[in-house]
Amino acid sequence: MDTTTPEQVQLLIIGSGPAGYTAAVYAARANLKPVLYQGIQPGGQLTITTEVENYPGFPDGVQGPELMIHFEKQAARMGADLRYGLATKVDLTQQPYKVWIDEEKIIETNAIIIATGASAKWLGIESEQRLNGYGVSACAVCDGFFFRGKEVAIVGAGDTAAEEALYLSKLCSTVHMIIRRDEMRASKIMQDRVKATPNIKIYWNSETDEIIGDKAVEAVRLKNGKSGETTQIPIKGFFVAIGHQPNSDIFKGFLDMDEAGYIQTVPGTAKTNIEGVFAAGDVQDKIYRQAVTAAGSGCMAALDAERYLSEKGLH
Ligand code: NDP
Repeated sequence: MDTTTPEQVQLLIIGSGPAGYTAAVYAARANLKPVLYQGIQPGGQLTITTEVENYPGFPDGVQGPELMIHFEKQAARMGADLRYGLATKVDLTQQPYKVWIDEEKIIETNAIIIATGASAKWLGIESEQRLNGYGVSACAVCDGFFFRGKEVAIVGAGDTAAEEALYLSKLCSTVHMIIRRDEMRASKIMQDRVKATPNIKIYWNSETDEIIGDKAVEAVRLKNGKSGETTQIPIKGFFVAIGHQPNSDIFKGFLDMDEAGYIQTVPGTAKTNIEGVFAAGDVQDKIYRQAVTAAGSGCMAALDAERYLSEKGLH
């Protein structure tokens, strides 16, 4: 196929988490013939979780990857055109807007729903980068299995870190939890569960000085922020669970964002500062960040896009 000739699309959806797929279901049912590019992690963040207990409609809970297969199948059944590919560049200066897929194919469209989600944050130290994939991971659920019966460390004190520490505590002999302040940010119930788990050992006021190891993780050196004392703990796995950042880089310079890079939408809508461009899910939500709120905002984006295209006589 000639990838240099732009393809005209009525509505482009970028991203395949709960927001993107929900937008696709609604847009396909409104006969907008949406084309959805799935991005680097088809199914999004839920594909790297286990049990989801708080998505309505599943009284017994559901596995994250299974839930996303349901989303995908539903969007496909409604007629959405689901494609592999990553949006690598955009030009939103004038309509039709241009979106480059995998750096070569060009899509031209008057309406875009951005549902690119968020990605794990890293500490930013040299040893973390060097040993990434060799014992350093940002996903306990994906990689915890490799450290069965071994000692591991996890950094972070939010709900994600608490959840992952509990997950690891069922697989690993000891989980060393590294917390930079003298309190946790996680919800009370998660904090209580972590504190009540005998093989989770908490290190308060502690920062990761270095992950030690040449070809694989062998230990971590911690520094106490108050006393300045350092401690070395032998471990095999090092997990980072310090939050996420929105996947909005390619839209910088076009769309209004906050200082952390979250796309700003007009309150109560999915509209961005550019007409015909809508945002849904974690890329525009730093407060709720739940699958169900992402799905809800995907629905809003599709309804806003449908209205926009109708008003412009483009649908
Ligand atoms: P959060 O932003 O809530 O927490 C990040 C944690 O990482 C904080 O404890 C923070 O410390 C720590 N941290 C950040 N940067 C560093 C650093 N450089 N070094 C050391 N520690 C660092 O992110 P989460 O991913 O945990 O949660 C995101 C949202 O998702 C929250 O709203 C959460 O409630 C929700 N969530 C809900 C779940 C559920 O309901 N089951 C499960 C998972 C997430 P500090 O506190 O000092 O800033």
